Amino acid sequence: MRSFSNANPRDMQQAAKLAQQARMEGRNAAFAGGGSDMLGLIKERIATPDVLVHLKGIQGANKVETKGGATVIGGQISLSDLSHNQVILKRYAVLAEAAGSVATPQIRNAGTLAGNVCQRPWCWYFRNGFPCFKAGGSQCFSFNGENQFHAIFGGGPSFIVHPSDTAVALMALDAKFRIVGPSGQRTLSAADFFTLPKQNAAKENALAYDEVLASVELPAAAAGQRSSYHKVLDRDAWTHAVVSTAVVLDMNGDTCRSARIVLGGVAPIPWRVPEAEKVLTGQRVTPELAARAAETALAGAQPLAKNAYKIPLTKEIVQRTVSAVARA
Ligand SMILES: Cc1cc2nc3c(=O)[nH]c(=O)nc-3n(C[C@H](O)[C@H](O)[C@H](O)COP(=O)(O)OP(=O)(O)OC[C@H]3O[C@@H](n4cnc5c(N)ncnc54)[C@H](O)[C@@H]3O)c2cc1C
Ligand code: SF4
Repeated sequence: MRSFSNANPRDMQQAAKLAQQARMEGRNAAFAGGGSDMLGLIKERIATPDVLVHLKGIQGANKVETKGGATVIGGQISLSDLSHNQVILKRYAVLAEAAGSVATPQIRNAGTLAGNVCQRPWCWYFRNGFPCFKAGGSQCFSFNGENQFHAIFGGGPSFIVHPSDTAVALMALDAKFRIVGPSGQRTLSAADFFTLPKQNAAKENALAYDEVLASVELPAAAAGQRSSYHKVLDRDAWTHAVVSTAVVLDMNGDTCRSARIVLGGVAPIPWRVPEAEKVLTGQRVTPELAARAAETALAGAQPLAKNAYKIPLTKEIVQRTVSAVARA
């Protein structure tokens, strides 16, 4: 492993300034929350920081606070604490379920919400040091190679799928992302935070090299809001989703007032399906309607040579999750 120094900032802005200062001195900086992904990247020499800026020790950066109905979650909360938090379980079950579905109990204890959202792709080629777009190169090896677990929507020139379970839930909840840089802060919607490879093939989100994700804000939950996360794995061990879905419905009896449906494991970003949401809006949710929404959600999918199986699999979980949430 290449040697690096550690920095322990007192707040998020100082963390951002440390990254900026390193760049000005011609050195690389990287951020770490729990470090469960970052240390692996360093060991494999995929990340080569000269200085590792640790965020987990920043005081108060892991709190859950409610403000005028909205809920603000500090990015340094562990996935384990997030999955057990009573406010989140009661108002935003989809996020608690997504956090609780990540990896193993050990990784959920160490891993943070911000680190989970900002984790790098798990494409086999990238993780094994191939010089592809994500590594700053100029080709994608999966397109004509192993692409069983790759994108069926939004791909090109990289065909990764976004690896984070919590990101799918945050998109479904219409979360806002508070970003802190060296000279201030800004807030982005989930739709603007996650970026497609066609915008910048080397990146997965809108963060600059010297910006940190500090917290996320969830809008007040509607009185009839119910939600759930459903994830399909390729083996019994806890691992990334092959495909997943986050469904948030605002129900009035058995009629859907509004819906947000987001797919995971199918695109380089959490993939919202507004046309499928429209199928449900204002309607009584029957099994037939849920099936129609699922059919609509997968319309336009463009599978690669080895991943067409994701289409029927994703349809099935959308149909089941919509029906289950509507019945709850
Ligand atoms: C065996 C295994 C199975 C896994 N299964 C799943 C799974 O099922 N679902 C899933 O979602 N994930 C899964 N993961 C990934 C795991 O969830 C992440 O490793 C973990 O959530 C990252 O959290 P962390 O705080 O340790 O991140 P870190 O390792 O600290 O950071 C991860 C990345 O995010 C960046 N980063 C961290 N914090 C910030 C911040 N505040 N602002 C900007 N950038 C930041 C880091 O620079 C790094 O690139 C798995 C990982 C392993 C090893
Ligand atoms: S899908 Fe993305 S990460 Fe994988 S080989 Fe292609 S460019 Fe690299």
